[in-house]
Amino acid sequence: MTPMSASSSFTPIVPVIAIHGGAGTITRASLSPEQERSYHAALAAVLAAGQAVLAAGGSAMDAVCAAVRALEDCPLFNAGHGAVFTADATHELDAAVMDGQTLAAGAVAGVTTVKNPVQAARAVLQDGQHVLMIGRSAELLAARAGLAQVEPTYFSTEARRAQLAAAQASSAGAVLDHDGASKMAELAGRPIDEGRKMGTVGAVALDAHGHLAAATSTGGLTNKRPGRVGDSPLIGAGTYADDRTAAVSCTGHGESFIRVAAAHDVCARMAYAGATLQEACDAVVHQALAAIGGTGGLIAVDRQGHVCLPFNTEGMYRGLARVGETPETFIYR
Ligand code: ASP
Repeated sequence: MTPMSASSSFTPIVPVIAIHGGAGTITRASLSPEQERSYHAALAAVLAAGQAVLAAGGSAMDAVCAAVRALEDCPLFNAGHGAVFTADATHELDAAVMDGQTLAAGAVAGVTTVKNPVQAARAVLQDGQHVLMIGRSAELLAARAGLAQVEPTYFSTEARRAQLAAAQASSAGAVLDHDGASKMAELAGRPIDEGRKMGTVGAVALDAHGHLAAATSTGGLTNKRPGRVGDSPLIGAGTYADDRTAAVSCTGHGESFIRVAAAHDVCARMAYAGATLQEACDAVVHQALAAIGGTGGLIAVDRQGHVCLPFNTEGMYRGLARVGETPETFIYR
């Protein structure tokens, strides 16, 4: 084959980004048209930001960090500003990033003063010595990296405080943040609202160079025990990326995702069993997780740019944007 004929059969990569903002009992009846519009608009704006990074030739890592940072800044989602409360009415934030080209990863857990935990996770990756840093030490590393610090109250919103009160009043234990919102509505005598969803945020991307990356950020569960760490910052559980297979970011009941190593399981099924992205994602979400009662979903992109957004709940805030195409956003099944 001549170089000419080789290049003529080359299919250029179309970079793509996918995002999620949580999964759960999200039905048409439970969201007002205004709420629906707000979520679609927020997701579309975040996708546009990530898409712009990829269109300019930026890396998948830059794109997922830009998207997750924007999701952290949006109070609609349980990450950064708008994060849920622990049982002690504090915030403990978790985040992770992974680079599919090098398998380099960084994560933080239980941080309370870093404005954008996803950036702290990336700072851990860039520092290179460790993968997962917790608490005060993670905050010091972020501060040394020049990242913005805030008072813990920056993360608080009245809606999340009411969720905590509802969770504690119902003695439900630790609840997924929007399950908490739903309980709040029930207590107020209203129908179940948009609340029954998990509000962790995440992004996965394929860039023009064929590299994959994943990022996830969360406030965790409403009314969780202080010190509890979920799946989001655990590489292989809530977050994973490997250029040979896929980039994955999860949302759901973290303990279940940890127990099945959900994000890595998607990649392992592709690598070892030759599963397609779709087959691997369906097996993890509808079989492995379902078998232990694990609720939630994930977003994944493979090296060919296939995207899967499966979930085993009624809905999941999600969307994708290919470079050159209009971003698409979805809420329900
Ligand atoms: N997976 C997150 C956790 O367990 C919660 C979520 O997705 O909303 O911390």
